[in-house]
Amino acid sequence: MVKAEETEFDVAVIGGGIIGVTAAFYLARRGKKVVLLERCQLARGTTCNSFAWINASSKAADADYHRLNARGLAEHKKLASEFGEIALGITSCGELSVAPVADQSRLAALRKQWLLLQDLEYPAVWVEGKDLPDLEPSINFDREYEGLLNSCELSLDAPRFVGFIADQVSSLGGDIVEESTAQSLQLGEGGEVLGVETSAGPVAARNVLLAAGPDSAEELARLTGFDGFATRFPVRRSPGLLLTTPDLSPRRLLRRVVYWAENPDLHVLSHFSGGLRMGAEDTDGMVAENDDAATRRAENNCCDAPASGLPAFRKNLASMIAISVSASGRCPRTGAASPTLCLVQRASMSSPRTAASPWPRSSAA
Ligand SMILES: Cc1cc2nc3c(=O)[nH]c(=O)nc-3n(C[C@H](O)[C@H](O)[C@H](O)COP(=O)(O)OP(=O)(O)OC[C@H]3O[C@@H](n4cnc5c(N)ncnc54)[C@H](O)[C@@H]3O)c2cc1C
Repeated sequence: MVKAEETEFDVAVIGGGIIGVTAAFYLARRGKKVVLLERCQLARGTTCNSFAWINASSKAADADYHRLNARGLAEHKKLASEFGEIALGITSCGELSVAPVADQSRLAALRKQWLLLQDLEYPAVWVEGKDLPDLEPSINFDREYEGLLNSCELSLDAPRFVGFIADQVSSLGGDIVEESTAQSLQLGEGGEVLGVETSAGPVAARNVLLAAGPDSAEELARLTGFDGFATRFPVRRSPGLLLTTPDLSPRRLLRRVVYWAENPDLHVLSHFSGGLRMGAEDTDGMVAENDDAATRRAENNCCDAPASGLPAFRKNLASMIAISVSASGRCPRTGAASPTLCLVQRASMSSPRTAASPWPRSSAA
């Protein structure tokens, strides 16, 4: 039952992922009376399956979008200086992109990205091959690589962040209601919003903020009764595939988020669960919702990526993953004796941006 059935809220926020909870926090901080409605539990949607690299470097090709992301990065840092990185699940790890010198086009693309970032006054630094092993000692750079270092970037334990920020909402007087699905908007005679009908009862609110992640377009259609929103609202579902190894603790194999600008493209970080989390852009493109065969092919591709394509990865990290799998046996989350694959959905703008794979490297994200 919604605790504050009799209360009239300034804002009802629908969706308890990172967007909804953070929006509720900033509203509550500005003195608004907020209620947050989550149909399951907080941070169980896209937010808990994210690669969660907080960056602006990958958006260098679009200056406005880069600046927006740089502001987001700065806001995370502001929160970290207020509440502490540990409480928020923020790691100031930085990011390192590497490209093989032999691959002139990828090296040129990385250099171009560096030049763009310099124009944008972003603190990116070019790294010579001889300095790479000091930055990431676990990687065997057995070919000649050069790199781009973005020391200011972060990675996030997003569920932890959401839990902490939700506690702040509560301590600011906001209501967080889990297991409560928003079903329809209550409208006045003039069409003005009066509140939300939920599975746990009605909630009176003059404003409603929809933060339903990849379901936002369908939810907007359902809430308003206007089916057109399901296709016209410019948010679309965009599947992605991430692979998370079992816990490799106490070794933190990677110090930074590492992005291989190589074939296959691979991005990897030391995940807060203790394992490595990795993704590859081409596997995102292969995944198809409700198509198990396509997803299986993407899984195989993602599993093969470290072993087949990247000598540096193969020689050290992939063998460590294999050792860990056989030594520790079980994945802490699923109990499976193999790397965990999670098929996840994210929302991305369908218009005017239409790139297929928005994270983490596309300038169109
Ligand atoms: C593979 C992958 C990699 C990514 N990598 C990065 C990255 O490196 N960096 C980055 O910044 N971003 C990344 N993202 C994107 C980022 O994770 C998402 O943008 C973010 O998590 C979206 O959060 P959200 O709150 O909008 O959605 P969600 O976390 O999906 O939350 C939406 C919530 O709304 C709830 N809900 C829906 N309908 C209702 C309803 N009717 N009533 C009540 N509740 C409802 C759902 O249950 C859900 O909990 C990645 C995403 C994916 C999938």
